[in-house]
Amino acid sequence: MTTLKLHNTKTRKREVFEPIDRDNVRMYVCGPTVYDRAHLGNARPVIVFDVLYRLLRHIYRADHVTYVRNFTDVDDKINARSADSGRPIAEITQETTQWFLDDMAAVGALEPDHMPRATAYIPQMVTMIEDLIAKGHAYAAEGHVLFAVESYKDYGALSGRSVDDMIAGARVEVAPYKRNPMDFVLWKPSDADTPGWESPWGRGRPGWHIECSAMADELLWEKPLAEDRLSESAKERPHVFDIHGGGNDLMFPHHENEIAQSCCANETDSMANYWLHNEMLQVEGKKMSKSLGNFFTVRDLLDQGVPGEVIRFVMLSTHYRKPMDWTQKKREEAETTLKKWYRQIGLSTAVLDNDVHSGTTNALTEDLNTPEALTNCHALSNGGDYSQLRKSLYLLGLFDGNIPDWVKVKGFSDAETGLIRHFLNRRENARASRDFQLADKMRDGLADAGVLVKDTGAEPEFERLSNFNVNKLDELWGDV
Ligand code: AMP
Ligand code: ZN
Repeated sequence: MTTLKLHNTKTRKREVFEPIDRDNVRMYVCGPTVYDRAHLGNARPVIVFDVLYRLLRHIYRADHVTYVRNFTDVDDKINARSADSGRPIAEITQETTQWFLDDMAAVGALEPDHMPRATAYIPQMVTMIEDLIAKGHAYAAEGHVLFAVESYKDYGALSGRSVDDMIAGARVEVAPYKRNPMDFVLWKPSDADTPGWESPWGRGRPGWHIECSAMADELLWEKPLAEDRLSESAKERPHVFDIHGGGNDLMFPHHENEIAQSCCANETDSMANYWLHNEMLQVEGKKMSKSLGNFFTVRDLLDQGVPGEVIRFVMLSTHYRKPMDWTQKKREEAETTLKKWYRQIGLSTAVLDNDVHSGTTNALTEDLNTPEALTNCHALSNGGDYSQLRKSLYLLGLFDGNIPDWVKVKGFSDAETGLIRHFLNRRENARASRDFQLADKMRDGLADAGVLVKDTGAEPEFERLSNFNVNKLDELWGDV
């Protein structure tokens, strides 16, 4: 079995990945708050964890992997957007959820197995909060419920901070009802204009962190457990899942708080065994921000004609644990490379099976070394191994079995394009083996069929002339 190594934030080491249950490898990734279009930075964790999802499916088989990514559809930013625009909350969250799915599909991300919306899991959150109060880890005060950080000795272990450091370094909200300034909100009261649910503490809404703990429990533990309730060993399954992911801006406080909630409620010393964090995205060396004017959404790029595959390629060209810089130059280079690769793999009809070139899989199993995997794709391309290139691009999510429309040559059908590329390829090979008679025959045959070949770039380009005649292409096919 392939050895997969992942850098675990929890231990700060690269470790061999050992799933709890090989038949059900389980991953949770924090998803978006839905009130606006996803910006380019938001696409980074989606693409990074999509590569990991594809790799896990490759190693353990697709039906043995469960991936959960949530939608935060209750949040004060959403409430503010509704108040500003006068539009109902549900309309805003439904619209932006669909935008997110469309934009992420455009960059080649598979949909996770479960995409829970926070508002559909309020009863589970309330139950977990009651449990935390009963176990002495949380307290109700003035319509709020707070998690008592001092009740959990490992608070801060993931990011390596002590509670005192956090108080000194963080901008914590000091509130009279908090016993410790670091205590965080599990539940808060809602007024008549704010979304709210009845609870033992009055009408209110959850804090942000509790949703991930409650939904991970429900979808990665309760559900799989219910399905195999008959098996005795299931009862002994630890209340833990395999991988938890997100951007490194979420490590503190969000992930610390998730761990505190889950470990205290479930009485375990771990929520997930491996914690993975992607670094942030920058633009032309600067932090992406609205005030610097370099802020843009994934949809902005798609609307400008930047193909989703190009966005994905640029993202994969930097390792996920390094800050990644989006530049115009990288985008152009990615487009040139991908155009060449798609033309090459269009010449292959290799079945997209699990037999992927070891140069690609070895790179990915070394803590998702996507730049190295792309280097291997370059080698496959240069070496003429288009079948293996095809399979590697498929595993990387850069190819879904169809050559993207933006690479297609206008004016020709797919079959005509394939035929022309075949002749051009034969011409290249003939030239390389100094068979100039065959090379000329290809050149003249294409010209005769009304195909204008331009040899100016790295790859030959071709255009349809008004005298284009597909029958002549067929004749040429029969002739050689
Ligand atoms: P937010 O919209 O800030 O709640 O973030 C949603 C997801 O996008 C989280 O996983 C963040 O870590 C991630 N994220 C936000 N900004 C960036 C960025 N500039 N680069 C990479 N990931 C980001
Ligand atoms: Zn989360």
